[in-house]
Amino acid sequence: MKHDPNCLFCKIAAGQIPAKKVYEDEELLVFHDINPWAPVHVLVIPKQHVATLADTGPEHEALLGRMLALAPRLMRDLGVTNGFRVVVNNGPDGGQEVYHLHMHVMGGPRPWAKG
Ligand code: ADP
Repeated sequence: MKHDPNCLFCKIAAGQIPAKKVYEDEELLVFHDINPWAPVHVLVIPKQHVATLADTGPEHEALLGRMLALAPRLMRDLGVTNGFRVVVNNGPDGGQEVYHLHMHVMGGPRPWAKG
């Protein structure tokens, strides 16, 4: 599995940096965002290192589908009952700050801090 030793989210996936995990399987990890914009704000990441959405290809289609398909189940399990938002920031103009592909999933009563 591709791993970047300098990548923050690779370190979280490897257990080298702690995170509040909410879901894990062979391919994916989900944990609470350290600086939440919404009452419930989790990040879905692939365990393998993929820097951005723009770095994905046909070989990642199943993985991307699994990431998206997980969102409703996560929100349900976290008690979000009134809708949620899914965001993937891509590249500098997309506001991406951590260069390991991640999907924000946010829910809970509004107003939210951002977005
Ligand atoms: P932005 O900061 O503009 O949302 P990204 O889309 O790259 O940019 O999101 C990175 C997210 O990772 C941020 O929401 C940030 O709060 C979160 N984050 C950074 N470090 C950690 C960490 N150690 N544990 C959990 N979340 C983190």
